[in-house]
Amino acid sequence: MPTREGKWLQPTYDSMAVFEKDFPVLELPGLDVICPGCKKPVKLARKSPQGRIAGWCRRCNRGVMP
Ligand SMILES: [Zn+2]
Repeated sequence: MPTREGKWLQPTYDSMAVFEKDFPVLELPGLDVICPGCKKPVKLARKSPQGRIAGWCRRCNRGVMP
């Protein structure tokens, strides 16, 4: 269980598909953080070409960053 809470990804994305286009690199295992919305674990397993990492919370339908 992760202890660290993430933040909402800025800028926000309307859908996971758009988010995954901007964060195309899959990085496993990825850092686990707590979603700032539903407080459940989210895996930050996506990386942008600029090196930012983020994940997608399917419950909240929003991006999460460290
Ligand atoms: Zn959530």
